[in-house]
Amino acid sequence: MPLYKTQAVVLKSMKLSEKDKLVTFLTETHGKVKCVAKAARRLKSRFGASLEPMSHVSLIYFGKEHQELYRLNQCDIIQSFQEIKESPDLFYTAVYFLELAGHFIVEGHPEPEIFRLLVRSLQEAGKVGNMELLCRLFEFRIMAHAGYTPRLRKCIVCRREPQSLWVGFSYNQHGIICESCFDKEPVETRIKSGTVSYLKKFLSLDLNHVHRLKIPKELEAEIESITHRLVLARLGREMKSYPFIRQMAEWV
Ligand SMILES: [Zn+2]
Repeated sequence: MPLYKTQAVVLKSMKLSEKDKLVTFLTETHGKVKCVAKAARRLKSRFGASLEPMSHVSLIYFGKEHQELYRLNQCDIIQSFQEIKESPDLFYTAVYFLELAGHFIVEGHPEPEIFRLLVRSLQEAGKVGNMELLCRLFEFRIMAHAGYTPRLRKCIVCRREPQSLWVGFSYNQHGIICESCFDKEPVETRIKSGTVSYLKKFLSLDLNHVHRLKIPKELEAEIESITHRLVLARLGREMKSYPFIRQMAEWV
């Protein structure tokens, strides 16, 4: 039977029987993978704490190709992200990242760029002060990796680069509209050209430098209106963890 070795992030871990666990992994090379972890519920399990959700692990599992359930052979922690699990603010945002990644990474379809975005964002979560910004960047990048980058350079109607302070945005047509074309295409929201510049930066920014990026307060709501609504438009629903993030943002 083939043996597979890959890196993964633990998405879910649940009781399967008295002794066993059913664990869902987002793997780097095989998409979403479900494994039976034999005797993982024993106190002295050989898997230790490696099956806790959010852990970044190195994984060996086996089974026939394209089957639904694999058997877990070995799971070693690369990073446990303990600091995230101990802070409610970081925790809910990280759960949101996991939920979103779990939506785009499906069984049998590897999405290595989304996997790396997830791991890098979890690594940065412990370092950045502004989770809001990391959240916006994650939303925008995951949409881009999944093939939904809006057109931000030229107007979707006349194909010219807008010169004005304000531009329109169409979620439907997935791009910006210059002022002179406002009457030709429904403008669903108006945003400042500064917001467009930050969205462009989100696509190219090295995640190592995310803590250096400062977003002017007055643009934050506009940026969220684009990144979060793009996610909603694509998914058709809100992720379960999102209301918790909003609540945390009001408390801190
Ligand atoms: Zn135009």
